[in-house]
Amino acid sequence: MSSSSDHKLAHVALLPSAGMGHLTPFLRLAALLTLQNVQVTFITPHSTVSLTESQALSRLFTSFPQIKHKQFHLLPLPKNPDDPFFQHFQLIKNSSHFLSPLLSALTPPLSVFITDMSLASTIIPITEAISLPNYVLFTSSAKMLTLFLSYPTLATSKAMDDLDETDVIKIRDLELMPKSLMPPPLLRKSNNILKSSFIEDGRKVAESSGILVNTFESFEQETLRKLNNGQVLPERLPSVVSIGPLPPCDFEKSQSQLTWLDDQPAGSVVYVSFGSRTALSREQVRELGEGLVRSGSRFVWVVKGEKVDREDNEGLEEIMGDELMERVKEKGLVVKNWLNQEDVLSHPAVGGFFSHCGWNSVMEAAWHGVRILAWAQHGDQKVNADIVERIGLGTWEKSWGWGAEMVVNAAEIAERIKEMMGNEALRIRALGIKEEARKAVGVGGSSHKGLAELINLWKKL
Ligand code: UDP
Ligand code: UDP
Ligand code: UDP
Repeated sequence: MSSSSDHKLAHVALLPSAGMGHLTPFLRLAALLTLQNVQVTFITPHSTVSLTESQALSRLFTSFPQIKHKQFHLLPLPKNPDDPFFQHFQLIKNSSHFLSPLLSALTPPLSVFITDMSLASTIIPITEAISLPNYVLFTSSAKMLTLFLSYPTLATSKAMDDLDETDVIKIRDLELMPKSLMPPPLLRKSNNILKSSFIEDGRKVAESSGILVNTFESFEQETLRKLNNGQVLPERLPSVVSIGPLPPCDFEKSQSQLTWLDDQPAGSVVYVSFGSRTALSREQVRELGEGLVRSGSRFVWVVKGEKVDREDNEGLEEIMGDELMERVKEKGLVVKNWLNQEDVLSHPAVGGFFSHCGWNSVMEAAWHGVRILAWAQHGDQKVNADIVERIGLGTWEKSWGWGAEMVVNAAEIAERIKEMMGNEALRIRALGIKEEARKAVGVGGSSHKGLAELINLWKKL
């Protein structure tokens, strides 16, 4: 490789996986690197699962024409997959033989490659074969990274057998987490897609050149310390660098103005959304609607009837019924199509976030200092909700369990929302967290330093 020079630009290629929860942090990282004078090539698996993903990508390329765009064509997608996003991860892996020639043809030669943790087991061998340093962007919490790295060992040990729900899972001297927080598929004996990813990708991520996490030091201090001092993987672990919260970009914002929000008093509105891929049952949608009305708060509510936006054609009235719909409309704004979360969370009228605690949502709430009422639906979300509660960004009603486990009734929902919106200490703490988040990515902050050091290193490769 060439000699070091301060004037040489680093050339970084990024490859995200599927779904807005994975794509968004990659878009933000691409923008951040470009603004720091790094040459970026963004490789997009084609086609994407949702329309929202392809629109977000075209906005990135319009705003940053200096970013090189390469499409990576996938084998055809099977019809009606069980989970379209997980299926897509697999499809990208299965199509990865198209990647080597694409990478080798890039000019100037790449300094490093950054991929999503869910693709690690397939992509790292490809980049190793062409001696290209490979970094992983972990799109969930550092706490989840701890589980991701430990799971290959955990799955083959007896550490989880005979534990009660409240017992803490331990490996060696490391207290991982209470069993109750674990994503359910990881506790099953039978094989499933999440489990095999955690085993294969978790193992391979440990062999990467470094792991970038969309979190910040003061938010997950203890976990980051354990990751970097050998308590998680004693043998070998590449350095774990917190680079978050990855700041939301202007190009993500939609053109449509949320005029309804402009007319609401500051901090009075609850934003209700369970992410890009969680659909509630119709019965739960009705209870939630009733609960929101009874809470007495104003609200912006994004209702999802299907996992993938382009499949979602059912009208709101059909789900809620005319009568409830009328009452809901008196107090709130209900939206069924994609609504840019950044537009909502950045609005001064918004004072609370009823959230599933997808990690991007948590980082975005921290970024804007908006307090959370957590309702974990799937996967990593209990782990994330636990972090939110411990750090004081929000409250979490654990008795509600996982999303589809039970129907939570309107009265309870109303009560918890009232509590969250009336909790002044929580409001102030959330504003303090916002300050810490901004400080972390500001000049001299921990995340800013972490990324700057990496870029300097990459320039010399
Ligand atoms: N998002 C959005 N509008 C929506 C739902 C989600 O803009 O109606 C964005 C949200 O801001 C976040 C991402 O999509 O950046 C979702 O990621 P997250 O990790 O919060 O949850 P997931 O969708 O992966 O469950
Ligand atoms: N699922 C989802 N969003 C997520 C995680 C999972 O929509 O963030 C879907 C997943 O694709 C699956 C279903 O929810 O079809 C069941 O979830 P999971 O596999 O996590 O198992 P469970 O929660 O039922 O134990
Ligand atoms: N995950 C992964 N490989 C997979 C499926 C999921 O690495 O094949 C990660 C996923 O990105 C998340 C965590 O495992 O950080 C929990 O999965 P979840 O279903 O919540 O995915 P998400 O909705 O966050 O994409």
